[in-house]
Amino acid sequence: MQRLIGAHTSTAGGLQNALYEGKRLGCTAVQIFTASPRQWQPTAVSAEQVARLQQARRETGIECVVSHAAYLINLASPDAETRRKAYQAYLAELQRCAALSIPYAVVHMGSHPDFETGMELLIASLRNLLAEMPDGVCIAMETMAGQGNALCYRFEHFARIYDALPDARLVICADSCHLFAAGYDLRTPETYEAVWESFDRLIGLSRLQVWHLNDSKKPLGSRVDRHEHIGEGALGLSAFQLILNDPRFVRLPMLIETPDENRFAEDLAKLWGMMHS
Ligand SMILES: [Zn+2]
Ligand SMILES: [Zn+2]
Repeated sequence: MQRLIGAHTSTAGGLQNALYEGKRLGCTAVQIFTASPRQWQPTAVSAEQVARLQQARRETGIECVVSHAAYLINLASPDAETRRKAYQAYLAELQRCAALSIPYAVVHMGSHPDFETGMELLIASLRNLLAEMPDGVCIAMETMAGQGNALCYRFEHFARIYDALPDARLVICADSCHLFAAGYDLRTPETYEAVWESFDRLIGLSRLQVWHLNDSKKPLGSRVDRHEHIGEGALGLSAFQLILNDPRFVRLPMLIETPDENRFAEDLAKLWGMMHS
């Protein structure tokens, strides 16, 4: 079985370039932005972009491509117009993913000054997206660090979403830095196992389908989202050893988003070196 290990690579000069860059870095999967992450205008993909990405998949052997939606998207925004724009931007993201045969569109869960109202708005946005989105792509909800008024930094928050929307197209992207900052300790076998026991009870392990592997600059429970290079942060190498060799996760794409892309190859080599088989 081929492991799916990679990085968020640049699409400068064309989406396909992220795969060639990934190949150069030793990736077997990549994460990309399918459009400029700072741009709100919904854009469609061209037939040429689809063909070039397919050609790059054949030439690099990198079949597994994951998308990350624009960071600005807040599906729970208290401002109705901002929320509407976010909704349209993420719907367009899902449509681009379907056209590009990208199975997962990772999205941040948004923020709202009033948690309860925010969760209601988020669930309403997700309900509408599930009704409108095309086939062939999943909404990958990223576990958040809990910074500021961010929603969905506890497993209980996702459990509420699934209670309202028990849909197989809603899946989880676990970010190791965010989990740790939110208070989930992945560093020792005992605490690690307790985290997944809780995840399985509240959410269900089958819903976890994408990993972001990042170390954390900030300590356990800090609720501050600052990524660090693998093994150089408060999380440390032991957590990555546990995740990489966990039989429950060996089929999932695992992608780094560490701070300096010039050190991606080094971070990836560390991950490959920690795998037992
Ligand atoms: Zn993210
Ligand atoms: Zn992430």
